[in-house]
Amino acid sequence: MEKLDLFKTKLNEVADISAAMALLGWDQQTYMPRGGAQDRGDIFSTMAGLLHEKVTSPEAIALLEEMKELAKSMDPDSDDARLIKVTAKAMDKQLKLPKRYVEEFAMATTVAQTEWEHAKHENNFALYQPHLEKVVELRREYASYFQPYEHVYDPLLDDFEPGLKTAEVIAIFDELRPRQVELIKAITAAKQVDDSFLKLEYDPDVQWEFGKEVVTAMGYDFNRGRIDQVEHPFTTGFGIDDVRITTHVYPKMVTSALFSTIHEGGHALYEQGIDHKYRRTPLATGASMALHESQSRMWENLVGRSLGFWKFFYPKLQAKFPTQLGNVSMEQFYKAVNKVSPSFIRTEADEATYNLHIMLRLELEIALMEGTLAVKDLPEAWNTRMKDYLGVVPPNDTKGVLQDVHWSSGMIGYFPTYALGNLVSVQLWEVIQRQIPDLDSQIANGKFDGLLGWLRENVHKTGAKFEPQEMVQKITGSKINPQPYLRYLTNKYSSIYGL
Ligand code: ZN
Repeated sequence: MEKLDLFKTKLNEVADISAAMALLGWDQQTYMPRGGAQDRGDIFSTMAGLLHEKVTSPEAIALLEEMKELAKSMDPDSDDARLIKVTAKAMDKQLKLPKRYVEEFAMATTVAQTEWEHAKHENNFALYQPHLEKVVELRREYASYFQPYEHVYDPLLDDFEPGLKTAEVIAIFDELRPRQVELIKAITAAKQVDDSFLKLEYDPDVQWEFGKEVVTAMGYDFNRGRIDQVEHPFTTGFGIDDVRITTHVYPKMVTSALFSTIHEGGHALYEQGIDHKYRRTPLATGASMALHESQSRMWENLVGRSLGFWKFFYPKLQAKFPTQLGNVSMEQFYKAVNKVSPSFIRTEADEATYNLHIMLRLELEIALMEGTLAVKDLPEAWNTRMKDYLGVVPPNDTKGVLQDVHWSSGMIGYFPTYALGNLVSVQLWEVIQRQIPDLDSQIANGKFDGLLGWLRENVHKTGAKFEPQEMVQKITGSKINPQPYLRYLTNKYSSIYGL
């Protein structure tokens, strides 16, 4: 067992270096001055190179081979066997990449992120174009190291959704698209919901305090986390006991910061809920991004946009904003936060149109990776699809192709996980409702420990020990399936819009 202990020690060291890099990433997006991008890029590049050297050294490779042998004599579902399996998969990927690639990718994406933010601020895609071209070129090179594959997008998707294939995602989306488009048409033809009161001026400091109250009630532990303001909200962690969230407060969009705080809080609850026995190992993270999004989207939508949630929280919000909400009833407010309206910004999209934003991005990503779409043609391709899918064309690139951070940080292959997370959230929810029959009344009383306890026990605590499809199958009895989500959307919006 000596060798197994040595292996775990090495994994602890790798986890520590990765956590240090994540901390630098957090700082980059919260407090780093823009002029620091090149310096930060150098640090990232050096650290990524060191990490790559460490995990691909002859000693590390020999140790891993011994571990793979040892695992054959273990129970395949034991923690140790799974730890070896997950590590071996990640390392086999690293071994395929030249060190030069890893360093170049770290540098290119650090610079591209800063340039993206600048270009978005200036509404000038041309400033960003050469940086995105570099990132796309590097991602295509990345895929080339994993040949043969069924699809050039498969190796990218696998980094976020282990085991899932591009063809499976396309099949799921093909099942979703016509039903969602049909639902949106029916809603558009119905009597519209008034949400004008959400766009009044709301004091940012009071919004900020309210968001903190809500995530505290959800069970987010501020003793093991903190919240800061950024351009594009995200969650990151440097261990199970230091998981940080971020948000962006808009004075004239009162629900934006609130729902993004709840969303990131959902991610953070997942990370804070992982069993401490996996500390400083590759298992101390979520099973996949779709599983992660199933948690964030569940808290944001199934909880945060439910009638019960607002029965409890609306009087509190109303008391904070008496001028804006004094004459607005809870039912009016509930309808307003669920208003369906095809719009430009994905993160502000309602549940009925959200997945269409994702389908658009998936198609563009696949075209970029296949080489059938050039980066310079992206803004036009974006706008054409917006018109086709949502019937609206963004007035500028800031509200269009420049809105998301993902591509600048090299995260091509990530977007589908948002839509898959939506589907999984409802699959889980149906099971939770059966197992906690009074869930709705618990939520309406501001009690979230029943729900959080269930999630801790069934989803959070095992971290990345199991693959996502395996977990969804085990908990719900089927793999990722769009039908529960479609049922949920139809029921919810039929009642709100009287369809
Ligand atoms: Zn998320």
